[in-house]
Amino acid sequence: DNFVVLKNVCKRFGDNTVIGDLDLEIKKGSLVTLLGPSGCGKTTVLRLVAGLEKPSSGQIFIDGEDVTNTSIQQRDICMVFQSYALFPHLSLHDNVGYGLKMLKLSAAEIKHRVDEALKLVDMEGMGDRFVDQISGGQQQRVALARALVLKPKVLLFDEPLSNLDANLRRSMRETIRELQQRFNITSLYVTHDQTEAFAVSDTVIVMNDGEIMQQGSPGDLYQSPASMFMANFMGDANIFSGSFDGEQLNINGYRIAADPEVIRGNPAGDYQIGVRPEAILLAHEGEPCQQCIVENVVYMGSMYEVAVMWHDQELLLQLNSSQFDAGLSDHAYLTINPTGLFLLPA
Ligand code: ADP
Ligand code: MG
Repeated sequence: DNFVVLKNVCKRFGDNTVIGDLDLEIKKGSLVTLLGPSGCGKTTVLRLVAGLEKPSSGQIFIDGEDVTNTSIQQRDICMVFQSYALFPHLSLHDNVGYGLKMLKLSAAEIKHRVDEALKLVDMEGMGDRFVDQISGGQQQRVALARALVLKPKVLLFDEPLSNLDANLRRSMRETIRELQQRFNITSLYVTHDQTEAFAVSDTVIVMNDGEIMQQGSPGDLYQSPASMFMANFMGDANIFSGSFDGEQLNINGYRIAADPEVIRGNPAGDYQIGVRPEAILLAHEGEPCQQCIVENVVYMGSMYEVAVMWHDQELLLQLNSSQFDAGLSDHAYLTINPTGLFLLPA
């Protein structure tokens, strides 16, 4: 039941290959997020799905139909942008109803559907206002209503929340997720912001340089990154040269019970072992091989960021404010939570 399918899609601009052999599938009614650094080709993928660009090679299917060579008008797709792209000279009602008017619906039908859409985005009764009379957050809600009112087959979001401040972003994230789930609109959501990707979707596809690096649930991507790029892109990571003997992991002589979720079927051998900053704790006592030197402590509100030196390597730790023991002097002992690790090839 894949509703949107990209098969071996390449996109070149002149000599510049922006998308190289991309395969992507979105199940009917689900929302998939494309997450990646600026310039990696996210907007290009959206434009390819929308029909604003043609692939240099490969195929695009929507609802079982090969749309590779069809125009944007034939695809029944709506796009929500970072710049809300509203018409300043039209009322909110007319902005939202614009597409319906193009479809030549009756004025009464348009009003009914516009009112309904404005209500969905918490803008009920505000149809007579103009764009300059509402806030940026409200403008983004109107842009969302304008897309929803058309009940498109596919909804595309291009960094829709980038212009909003942190609190508004959070509430819009919730609104988008809730409406997408309520109406089961098949959606592709693009962002460079990891938090946003994790908040709006169950499936995240990470892209870099026009290629898919890894795809999975937020938990999978964070806990089991498949490459060094992923380990660093999905938050901070401390990386060690270590080994696995079939039962225990060994980092600098510190032996850690091997959790099956960490090992994931890997054979014994040498590995790069990643440890997330929150998986390391500090204590007053421990084995000699766990002894470290506290180098720097930064209070961050809900946590402390602590830098320690351990076997000539500087590590980053994030400790809950309640866990941090201000009595720790220069010398401390670290312990590593066995479930907070991941393995990468040596
Ligand atoms: P993102 O949305 O991830 O920031 P884009 O898809 O906008 O990335 O761009 C990816 C790359 O493709 C960039 O290097 C950009 O310069 C290039 N690019 C995008 N559109 C065009 C175009 N119309 N002509 C030439 N190069 C383009
Ligand atoms: Mg972009």
